[in-house]
Amino acid sequence: MSARDALVLGGGPAGLSAAALLHRRGWSVNVIERAAHVGGLTRTIERDGFRFDLGGHRFYSKNPAVTGFFADVIGDDLIEVDRRSSIHFRGRFVDYPIRPWNALRHVGPLTAARIAADLVRLGLRRTPPGAPRSLEDWMLRNYGRTLYETYFKVYAEKVWGLSAQDIDAGLAAQRVKGLDLRATLVNALFRRRPAAVESMVERFHYPRFGYGQFCDNLAAELGQRVATSTEPVRIRHDGRRLTAIELAGGGVATCSPEVVVSSIPVTALVRLLDPAPPAAVQQAVDGLGFRAVVFAAVFVDRPSVRPESWIYFPSPAISFGRVTEPRNWSPDLAPADKTSIVAEHFCDVGDATWRQDDAALVARATRDLTAELGFFAPDEVLGSAVVRAPAAYPRMDTGHRGRLETIERYLDGFANLQVIGRGGMYRYHNTDHVIETAMACVDRLTGGAADPRAVNTELAYHEEKRTA
Ligand SMILES: Cc1cc2nc3c(=O)[nH]c(=O)nc-3n(C[C@H](O)[C@H](O)[C@H](O)COP(=O)(O)OP(=O)(O)OC[C@H]3O[C@@H](n4cnc5c(N)ncnc54)[C@H](O)[C@@H]3O)c2cc1C
Repeated sequence: MSARDALVLGGGPAGLSAAALLHRRGWSVNVIERAAHVGGLTRTIERDGFRFDLGGHRFYSKNPAVTGFFADVIGDDLIEVDRRSSIHFRGRFVDYPIRPWNALRHVGPLTAARIAADLVRLGLRRTPPGAPRSLEDWMLRNYGRTLYETYFKVYAEKVWGLSAQDIDAGLAAQRVKGLDLRATLVNALFRRRPAAVESMVERFHYPRFGYGQFCDNLAAELGQRVATSTEPVRIRHDGRRLTAIELAGGGVATCSPEVVVSSIPVTALVRLLDPAPPAAVQQAVDGLGFRAVVFAAVFVDRPSVRPESWIYFPSPAISFGRVTEPRNWSPDLAPADKTSIVAEHFCDVGDATWRQDDAALVARATRDLTAELGFFAPDEVLGSAVVRAPAAYPRMDTGHRGRLETIERYLDGFANLQVIGRGGMYRYHNTDHVIETAMACVDRLTGGAADPRAVNTELAYHEEKRTA
């Protein structure tokens, strides 16, 4: 394409990266963001002197171009942070990613013996033919039933609100694998040379005033080209090209850009098309959806609560699924001698958790953090904030791939549309991946052959570093 004029839908990291990269190449760009602020899920909220991300966001990429771009945008404020995570299990904090011997120590002798027996069986057995279909299939093949049922099943079901049998296996292959237990066991039993896999990176990059600095800096670079509180209300097309975008914000405006780059949820994009797509595409869109998260930040009058960057809570008895302590990411995220805990409640838009009023949500989270977990005392609470994210995780059920292919085939028919980002592509992408999709899109728009759909497709966990 030789176009030089693009409209970018969505002012999160994907949209803003694409816009900035096009702008740097001399394109005329405009970004349309529905919210009153940029940043999407990577926003950093500031309240009463405390700053927190919507779930701590760490930066890590295997792609040097992505790391270079991120570092360039953040500049001198990029810091390195030690990574430390644990799972709260039967009242104890177990290292995460799972380290077999650490996990075995905490589960008691009977469960430990069952886990060990599963691992021996897995180590000796041939891999069953065919690809695993569900997260459950994948887990059973890689970890065995006991470890799966003890650690992973409850947490996965809490996060996704789906049975583990209905969650796509690709999600586990891509996200959950922290350590090749089978290889570890086989190596231990048969004294093979260790594969020297560093299970996860031990340190990560982070902007010292919060991850939101990335989008804030890009938006500053783009200036007037970013319109917030504005959204597309209709996208007209002739079957081959998008011809006119009607925007609502301060008023209604219509524009006809040569190229549209969309990073808004693909479900929203398809529903805006006029004429409406064929029934099969509409049905496919109706079959996709997003898991939401309600974040409750509790501000605490003490210098520190826990050492971890993340703590996971699989137990249904605890109202939230994960917490972060922003001060452990950067001391600049809390006033001196104070800290905060951000609790993530996984839910669906409209369900009881989503509808719960802020005071009740914070009261329940505080009860769990104090009475159940003993993190701090109720009278140390200084304040709180609640933020709701309706489209946090594309719902990766076992049927989503077919629906997505139907939608992608249809959208591929529009010569001047590029789709990028997490909700935009309906992929479980991290920020580094969405930046990479933006880079691939810009490459394609400027004559290259890169493909946003090729990003983050490797099955091995993207953080795994093979050193041998
Ligand atoms: C709890 C949690 C923790 C995470 N932790 C990490 C982490 O540690 N590291 C990491 O790299 N990634 C992490 N991520 C993922 C990261 O947030 C996403 O990869 C990233 O935000 C995706 O960027 P995006 O621009 O594609 O989408 P988004 O950030 O969702 O941005 C999309 C933008 O489009 C706007 N929009 C939506 N609809 C419309 C519309 N109709 N019109 C106009 N604008 C619209 C939205 O308001 C939003 O600003 C995490 C995500 C979650 C939910």
